[in-house]
Amino acid sequence: MSGRGDRLGASIEAAAGLLRRARYVVVLTGAGISTESGIPDFRGPSGVWTKDPKAERLSTLSYYMSDPQVRKQSWRQRLDHPAWSSAPNAGHLAVVELERKGRLQTLVTQNIDGLHLQAGSSPEITIEIHGTMREVVCMRCGERAPMERALERVRAGEADPPCRRCGGILKSATISFGQNLDPDDLARSQLAAARSDFFLAVGTSLAVHPAAGLPAIALNAGARLVIINAEPTPMDSDAEVVFQQPIGEVLPALVALV
Ligand code: NAD
Repeated sequence: MSGRGDRLGASIEAAAGLLRRARYVVVLTGAGISTESGIPDFRGPSGVWTKDPKAERLSTLSYYMSDPQVRKQSWRQRLDHPAWSSAPNAGHLAVVELERKGRLQTLVTQNIDGLHLQAGSSPEITIEIHGTMREVVCMRCGERAPMERALERVRAGEADPPCRRCGGILKSATISFGQNLDPDDLARSQLAAARSDFFLAVGTSLAVHPAAGLPAIALNAGARLVIINAEPTPMDSDAEVVFQQPIGEVLPALVALV
């Protein structure tokens, strides 16, 4: 290695040194960790909203609840979602490895694709703070069911399948804009951030609150912050080390040194 490679190697070693000394580690991931699995993020250069700003409507609760056309379009997009044919990548596997080494106490993911759990992260330490697209929930009676069953109904011709139990509107079990987070998930995430002495933010623009507020909670509690994200984030100036290289390059190298 020389030049850029030397500097990257030194930064990885610096971050690994902090990680080795840490006693309570929190990793927060965002859409960026799944782009290398073929799932586009929202705000990156090839992001879904960067390419089509109107797509944000599909993720907004009030439009979803009031407009059948938005729901029909959402169901079509769910059918075609790249997550169904994607697999965990080196970044997800590095997170599993960090846990296996006893160096990860809590994983908070903003991702709804389920790839961390598919990769092998333990459900006990994983908080899917924005829910999961692998299930549906009835917005009236709260009944939950596997997404696959609802998708079968869409494939069979129901453009906007209602709840089988009460006829209410079904939605993927994800947190839309305008929808509150599960209070337990939020409280557990904030508690973990407050306990942490090392906080690693991976593939998140840190733009969506309250998840984006977790690094600040950790910093206030005295934690060291490391960020891996291709583009700048609002917290970069507070971080010990910022990597703007691909996650699949940096994260496995970092975990290997721990
Ligand atoms: P975001 O789209 O706002 O930001 C992703 C960031 O990751 C960008 O800044 C981008 O530069 C960076 N990035 C992308 N690929 C990278 C790579 N290979 N290496 C390094 N950096 C990379 O994502 P967010 O902060 O998670 O917020 C978006 C919201 O949308 C979240 O709430 C999430 O629930 C949802 N979302 C989830 C998925 C998913 O589940 N895979 C996909 C899109 C959006």
